[in-house]
Amino acid sequence: MQTSFEAPPSPCPCAFSEPTSLPATCGASAFLAFMSIVEGVLKSQCELVDPLRCAPHAEHRSVFDFIVVGAGSGGSVVASRLSEIRRWNVLLLEAGGPEPTAAQAPAMYFNYHGSRIDWNFITEPEEGACLNMPERRCRWPRGKVMGGTSVLHGMMYVRGSPRDYDQWWAKDAGLGPEWAFRGVLPHFIRSEDNLEMADMDAGYHGQGGPLTVQRFPHRPPLADVLLAAGREMGVPTVSDLNGARGDPSKSRWLPTGEAFAIAQATVRNGSRLSLSRAYIRPALRRGWGNLRVKTGARVTKVIVSGGSARGVEYFSEEDGKVHSVYATKEVIVCAGAVQTPQLLMLSGIGPKEHLEEVGIPVVKDLPGVGSNLHNHVSAHVVFELPADVAMESGTSLGVESLAEYMATRTGPMSSTGLSQVFRALEFLLHH
Ligand SMILES: Cc1cc2nc3c(=O)[nH]c(=O)nc-3n(C[C@H](O)[C@H](O)[C@H](O)COP(=O)(O)OP(=O)(O)OC[C@H]3O[C@@H](n4cnc5c(N)ncnc54)[C@H](O)[C@@H]3O)c2cc1C
Repeated sequence: MQTSFEAPPSPCPCAFSEPTSLPATCGASAFLAFMSIVEGVLKSQCELVDPLRCAPHAEHRSVFDFIVVGAGSGGSVVASRLSEIRRWNVLLLEAGGPEPTAAQAPAMYFNYHGSRIDWNFITEPEEGACLNMPERRCRWPRGKVMGGTSVLHGMMYVRGSPRDYDQWWAKDAGLGPEWAFRGVLPHFIRSEDNLEMADMDAGYHGQGGPLTVQRFPHRPPLADVLLAAGREMGVPTVSDLNGARGDPSKSRWLPTGEAFAIAQATVRNGSRLSLSRAYIRPALRRGWGNLRVKTGARVTKVIVSGGSARGVEYFSEEDGKVHSVYATKEVIVCAGAVQTPQLLMLSGIGPKEHLEEVGIPVVKDLPGVGSNLHNHVSAHVVFELPADVAMESGTSLGVESLAEYMATRTGPMSSTGLSQVFRALEFLLHH
């Protein structure tokens, strides 16, 4: 699985086996045969194959300008953008491997949760959460793969709440106005390639960026039934979840939560657009050789000397050894909300008392590391539909939907089904 490379060749140049097979993600044996067919067919579609699978090895180097830890949503963007400066050498270290091909079909959204590309974290018991789970402990999916959690997630394109940016900025004296909503908005716009501009509010969206944004090509008829039910309750349907409606600087600010919508998604031609696919593959395709990616590389420590991060140690699955690499400019840790603080603490950066309690030598006493974690809840509601309604729901997968997907990248395989119906709870949380 592990490889280190500079520029990948064009897609599909080599035979490969999927380290995380789709049938293995299916508990029920009834689906095994179908999932084997799905996987076999998808693997023949070269544009869905992660080109990193066939990349040649690059020679070993130990000094770079920048080292980025984690090729997830954040790390993919950071490493790609840094490598736009051609004279800078950037190393991107990722614990997981290339993306599984079948994860590119949006309908397979849930399949890879709990698989080998998931870190498979389980939360500690909490008083007020996970009440229906054994020992009140929930699964917490996090991607261990190029693209990180953007390979496991639901693809809905929903930016952070504008009010959160404004409140963070207002509360933290160290932050400049570029961290308020009006400061981050130009970056959202720049990153976007929104293919449905006519439906979006003017001034909030962009085109030509690396992140293709559009609605899924398929929407089950039941989705429209849900929107109609919302309207019956007096909740309108809107088309833009990231526009003027949620902008507190507008005179008639309306929280997004007052509306239902079919969410836009980060999809391209009916397939998942992970952040690695959006940012890292194009950066490698430039062929400049200044961005190196090493997969199967789990960083175990940030090397600090003279009060600054100088490099990292990582365990390589390739040779089973621990290696050290150094950065002349910066080490940027993008290991996600769980593992960024974990790695900092393993490196001696964190709350002094806690580090001493677990026997880690304190390098820097930083009490905030590992605290103030916020997450949103996700409640799964399982319900039975009468057979005729279920048939009309247009979400069932079979040979026909597979053939449709192969031919036109549309149909039930090209969407997450009813998950694309969106209603924010912002209104309830803030009032
Ligand atoms: C079930 C689910 C559904 C979601 N749905 C949506 C959605 O529809 N829309 C949306 O916008 N967001 C969604 N999210 C949230 C979104 O996926 C995350 O907020 C985002 O991916 C986090 O990005 P990140 O860069 O912080 O972390 P990640 O994307 O998790 O990246 C961290 C990376 O670091 C790597 N890493 C960790 N530790 C190490 C180490 N020690 N050494 C080397 N590498 C390491 C990991 O393997 C991973 O690749 C969802 C999340 C979940 C769990």
